[in-house]
Amino acid sequence: MEQPKNLLRQLPAVDQLLRHPLLQELSQKDHNLVVACTRQVLAGWREKILAAGIEPPDPEELVREIRNRYKASGRSSVRAVINATGIVLHTNMGRAILSQAATEAALMAARRYTNLEFDLARGERGSRYEHVAGLLQELTGAEAALVVNNNAAAVYLSLAALAAGRETIISRGQLVEIGGSFRVPEVMAQSGTRLVEVGTTNKTYLRDYEAAMGPDTALLLKVHPSNYRIQGFTHEVTTAELVDLGRRRQVPVMEDLGSGFLVDLENYGITGEPTVQAEIKQGVDLLTFSGDKLLGGPQAGIILGRRELVAAIARHPLTRALRVDKMTLAALEATLRAYRNPDRAVQEIPTLAALVARPEALRRQAEQLQALLAGVLGSRARVGIKEITSQAGGGSLPLTELPSWGVTIKPEQITVDELGRRLRHTDPPVVARVQDETLILDVRTLLPGESEELPRALVEALDGINDSPGNHENVGWEAN
Ligand SMILES: *Cc1c(COP(=O)(O)O)cnc(C)c1O
Repeated sequence: MEQPKNLLRQLPAVDQLLRHPLLQELSQKDHNLVVACTRQVLAGWREKILAAGIEPPDPEELVREIRNRYKASGRSSVRAVINATGIVLHTNMGRAILSQAATEAALMAARRYTNLEFDLARGERGSRYEHVAGLLQELTGAEAALVVNNNAAAVYLSLAALAAGRETIISRGQLVEIGGSFRVPEVMAQSGTRLVEVGTTNKTYLRDYEAAMGPDTALLLKVHPSNYRIQGFTHEVTTAELVDLGRRRQVPVMEDLGSGFLVDLENYGITGEPTVQAEIKQGVDLLTFSGDKLLGGPQAGIILGRRELVAAIARHPLTRALRVDKMTLAALEATLRAYRNPDRAVQEIPTLAALVARPEALRRQAEQLQALLAGVLGSRARVGIKEITSQAGGGSLPLTELPSWGVTIKPEQITVDELGRRLRHTDPPVVARVQDETLILDVRTLLPGESEELPRALVEALDGINDSPGNHENVGWEAN
């Protein structure tokens, strides 16, 4: 193997590359950006050569990479993506889609001055939290409400404010990890409370909590297992039992509900997730949940509960560090307003509408898309439809299978994985499922107008238009 040092010498210098006619042309538009891209590409290759001792590419290949990088840098990094996975609350794709009203409210708050912290009646400083507190009380029956950045923050802040330096009792079966970095035991430790685990993974009884309680017990915590369920030989203490114990021993009961449904969708066949109202009614003293999961609003953490507990949390210095932004508050208020009429909420809030979409309607939608695609794709691929199941996602309703329909695509010239890869490089990118050597577009999560964008994206992907051969995954794609 040649010495990396010698290989490095084969890389052209920045100035040398910049003299290439294609880069000269780009330089007329934005010289500094071309220089920056050239440096980045060369730095990337230097690293690869030093690490793996590979041959540097020829200058033409380098120029092509520099142009790709230049084009990509002209595009926003956060881009609209067509979600054809059927996962309604896809955490990696931004979870809930906001309603029209919520979108308009966020835009208004972004573009104009608002009364965010200004009491118009009195002409003096007001509180940002009051814009949604009343609405949350009205909708849920809770005595008081506070909104923070997200539910992880809501849990952390609540524990820090109410149980730091003291003990919080939790069932071993509820010490879960949600998503990559939210582990209940770790969040508890960070908040300064001492974790007291009771019971076993599969069985916890009320007597386990009782035996662990002492003068240092600050909270009884119940955590909704969200993305998993313990099935079989199990026993969990119910919310009602825990509330009763808390009352008798004068220790508040807190529940991290995670998702937080504000409507009961049982009539639509969706069961297995308690509503916020039902949990409040059972008497939990403090309840937290996400704004962008089943509620269908913006990212936020909602804290509901007894007046003095919520007031103690609001007073904690960390509240300021975890505070919610004005656009979020505006969008949350608009989302919550829709819930005053639950039937309207189900229609207007995209997350709920997607969850309750009827299989017959999805089938019709899939048939239409199939016809559209079959007409355009011709002999490039075989197009069909298939009965499938979609998921709620976002750690919600893990056992609920939502019956759905998908359009299946079997390419004739390329592999299914290659088609999936190329679709992620169209504009807008399309993220689909690949299953049994077939690409599946689940119509449940397609937004209005997106079906019409799919034919062009698929033609581009199947024909390899704009794809740069030999350059996979990272920068090998030129939009336009
Ligand atoms: C999702 C979830 C969280 C984290 O909520 P974020 O809003 O994502 O911060 C915490 N607890 C439970 C039970 C959850 O399901």
